[in-house]
Amino acid sequence: MIKKNSLSQVSYLTVIHEFAGSIFLSLILAVLTICLPQAAVAHEKPPTGGVTLFQKVRIFDGKSAVLSAPSNVLVRGNKIETISAQPIAVDRRADTRIIDGGGRTLMPGLIDMHWHAMMVRPTPAMLLSSDLGYSNLLAGAEATSTLMRGFTTIRDMGGPVFGLKRAIDEGLLPGPRIYPSGAVITVTSGHGDFRQFSDLPRTLGGMLSRIEQLGGAMIADSPDEVRTRVREQLMQGASQIKLTAGGGVASPFSPLDVSTFTEPELRAAVEAAENWGTYVATHAYTPASIQRSIAAGVKVVEHGHLMDEATAQLMAEKGIWLSTQPFLDMSPAAALGPQEQEKMRQVVTGTDTAYELAKKYNIKTAFGTDVLFSQALAERQGQMLASMTRWYTPAEVLIMATSTNGELLALTGLRNPYPGKLGVVEEGALADLLLVDGNPLENIDLVADPDKNFLVIMKDGGIYKNKLPN
Ligand SMILES: [Zn+2]
Repeated sequence: MIKKNSLSQVSYLTVIHEFAGSIFLSLILAVLTICLPQAAVAHEKPPTGGVTLFQKVRIFDGKSAVLSAPSNVLVRGNKIETISAQPIAVDRRADTRIIDGGGRTLMPGLIDMHWHAMMVRPTPAMLLSSDLGYSNLLAGAEATSTLMRGFTTIRDMGGPVFGLKRAIDEGLLPGPRIYPSGAVITVTSGHGDFRQFSDLPRTLGGMLSRIEQLGGAMIADSPDEVRTRVREQLMQGASQIKLTAGGGVASPFSPLDVSTFTEPELRAAVEAAENWGTYVATHAYTPASIQRSIAAGVKVVEHGHLMDEATAQLMAEKGIWLSTQPFLDMSPAAALGPQEQEKMRQVVTGTDTAYELAKKYNIKTAFGTDVLFSQALAERQGQMLASMTRWYTPAEVLIMATSTNGELLALTGLRNPYPGKLGVVEEGALADLLLVDGNPLENIDLVADPDKNFLVIMKDGGIYKNKLPN
């Protein structure tokens, strides 16, 4: 009896404990739900302030090769509400802004598909040795400059950018929308592994290297490690995942010709990203690294400068995106050593072929600049866009940097940090707009001097620049 009693007492106590435990747990969960900042998952947008009416503008809508007839465009909140050739009536409230376009061009904000917001201004040595607070402030200053060049959205292809993105979204400082990848995921010796020989050997569970501590790159040498690193980026708010499938220019120990991740490693990343509703983009120059990426389910190839005919054909057949950059000279490698410069030379040699193949096979092609370690180069962001007329008409170039890039951004599905249409001027789209002093479809060089020619810059319905006389 005693035994039975004590037993039932034990189970009674257990029940009490479990009950109390579950109440306690529920309380903790409730408190956490209320108190934890939700910002890690979804950000509240800053108030964008009322209504803006653009009058007498001709619209480049991001898709058509010709401007519209003179039109009026009404923005309410952060969206384009009405586009009409007829006058649009608005309340003359205090928060209603009327902008007389005077026949100038209204176009979508520009999108850069390959950007590294945290790595534009510092040198590699500064990035690795500086305090992260300083790096963030430096990146914040650059983010404001980026927006002032008319780039209202960037897809960040590697770097500890989550804090900067949050600060911009909260309205702490002006900057573009950021689609963050978080840390680049690489292998030992791969592109993004900035360790020295003295840091070897790597021990699983051992101390992280500096670039890993910063969240700039994470090293992963097995499918399991890849999965962990991918999920860590997704947990922090990555909208897509970036892996380096082959060698890169700026990394000291990764020759351009090598393939880095095995196919099962790449597939582990793709599975983890797809389970999360989004996709993997790989850094890949060579046919081998591109083809392995495609076999593993990668949706977007970054760079592709050394691709060949068969690879281009495969990309077209499978509907794989090419997110590439017009590298036409050695300036991207100006801050790097002689070995890195030699690798840059090889990439530059491939640029013409890559664009010609992309055109020949009608590959879905996105525009980006991949500016690294140079503020001076970043100031040429618009010039890099204009340089694309080497292969495309001005209209094709501008369509690529707006609606086509917007299409690629949408691959993030439910992980899209800015749900809504980007890169187009149409009713219901997000209000990222530039008022250009002239017609960029006729004179693309207008985008190369944004300071002079972009008179109004709007992002998310908010006006960040207005140089029109009042
Ligand atoms: Zn890059």
